[in-house]
Amino acid sequence: MPQDRLKVLITEEALQDRLRQMAAEIDAAYRDSPGLLVVGLLRGSFVFIADLVRHLKVPLEVDFLVASSYGRGQESSREVRILKDLDEEVEGRDLLLVEDIVDTGYTLDSVVRLLATRAPRSIRLCSLLSKPSRREVEVPLDWCGFEIPDAFVVGYGIDYAQRNRNLPYIAEVLPEKA
Ligand code: IMP
Repeated sequence: MPQDRLKVLITEEALQDRLRQMAAEIDAAYRDSPGLLVVGLLRGSFVFIADLVRHLKVPLEVDFLVASSYGRGQESSREVRILKDLDEEVEGRDLLLVEDIVDTGYTLDSVVRLLATRAPRSIRLCSLLSKPSRREVEVPLDWCGFEIPDAFVVGYGIDYAQRNRNLPYIAEVLPEKA
């Protein structure tokens, strides 16, 4: 298996501190919710959502949706396909979509459009990371863990060609040496 050259961008400690802050805000926002459904966009959000929900105190359910991603490369295809839909009904429910990283914005925008057709009570968006300089479609994030520069990152659930999801921190993938 090839080894990627990595540089730590966000430490494990910084991730956990920020997560606790966001969870407190999310708890406050949904204090009076009649039914919160936390929707994780797989696969990249699986670590983030697992940590986040353990900090949340409001009653909630969890479901997952798989949207097509980058395949093995570093460029967005801009054509988003739903590979696995939700199992839960969303009508009348408060949805919190949890994404690992918003880059061009096409993925989250497509998922929001799809779920909005099912008459949820509300849709709010939470992403661990965002690359604002790469945005092509505006997506209004209600919670964003960290804004990062235009770098390709891995770790904490996020992969490059399926590698390095298991790192407990976020690292930048450096170009291969010539
Ligand atoms: P968007 O549709 O361009 O916003 O891309 C969002 C998706 O692309 C994320 O859910 C990730 O799966 C993937 N992605 C974007 N940037 C990175 C990165 O730096 N590392 C790994 N995956 C990324």
